Amino acid sequence: MRLTVLGGCGAWPEPGQACSGFLVEQDGFRLLVDAGYATLPRLLTHIAADELDAVYITHGHPDHCADLNPLLRARALPDKPAPPLPVYALPGALDAVLALDRPGMLDPAIMLTPFEAGDTFEIGPFTARTALLPHFVPNAGVRLTANDRAIVYTGDAGPGPATVELARDADLLVAEATHAEEVPESARGMLSSARDAADQATAAGVRSLLLTHLWPGTDPYTARAAARAGYAGGIGVATPGLSFDLP
Ligand SMILES: [Zn+2]
Repeated sequence: MRLTVLGGCGAWPEPGQACSGFLVEQDGFRLLVDAGYATLPRLLTHIAADELDAVYITHGHPDHCADLNPLLRARALPDKPAPPLPVYALPGALDAVLALDRPGMLDPAIMLTPFEAGDTFEIGPFTARTALLPHFVPNAGVRLTANDRAIVYTGDAGPGPATVELARDADLLVAEATHAEEVPESARGMLSSARDAADQATAAGVRSLLLTHLWPGTDPYTARAAARAGYAGGIGVATPGLSFDLP
C-alpha cells in the first residue's frame, strides 16, 4: 500500500500547497481520499484523470471535496469520456459540490455510493472501515486495510475515543492537526491540535503519525514539535509529493 500526499493544507490552499487529498494505491488500484481545493492539479502530476479507480470523501466541507467538480469534468468532457467513477460519501455530503454544474451534466461521470458512518465495505483491494468522528458536519474517518497493512485517516475530527478505536495498532495515522498546541474555543471538540493527534496516536499504539490540515501559515516544525511532546514514533507533516510505502 502506498500513500501519496496531494495536499495537507486546512481551510484554503496556499501557494504550492493544496487542501486535503491523498492518493492511496494497492495492486495498481488508485483511490483518491478527499478531493479538497487544488488537489486535482496535484493528482494529475501523478496519474491521468481517467486512471483513477475510486474516491472516498470524509465530509462535505469544500476543503475536502471541492475538486470533485473539476475531476468529474476532466472525466466527463473529453471526446472519449471515462467510465463512471465510484465515489463513496455520506448521504447528502456532496449535494453542494455536485450542484455546481447544470443538472445531469456530470451524472454519467459519477457512480455515487452513499454509506453510513460505521459501515465497513470493500473499495477495490481495500477494506474500508468507517467511523463517525466529531466535527461541525458529519465526518467519516476511515481505516483502509490491504495486505495486512492499515492506514487510518481522520478527515477533520475533534479528539475522542472513536479515533483511538479506529486507529488501534495502525501502521500510519493521518490525523487532522489544524492547530499546533491548542484548538480555539470556537472549534474545541470539532478540530484537533497536533498535540491531540499525538496523544491519540500514542493511545492507539500506531506505528507512525502524519499531521495534516495545518492552518495556513502554520510552521510545520512547530506542529511537529507539539506532536513530539506526546508521541514517540515517527512524525511527518503532510506536504505535496510526500509518499509512504507500506510493503
Ligand atoms: Zn471540515
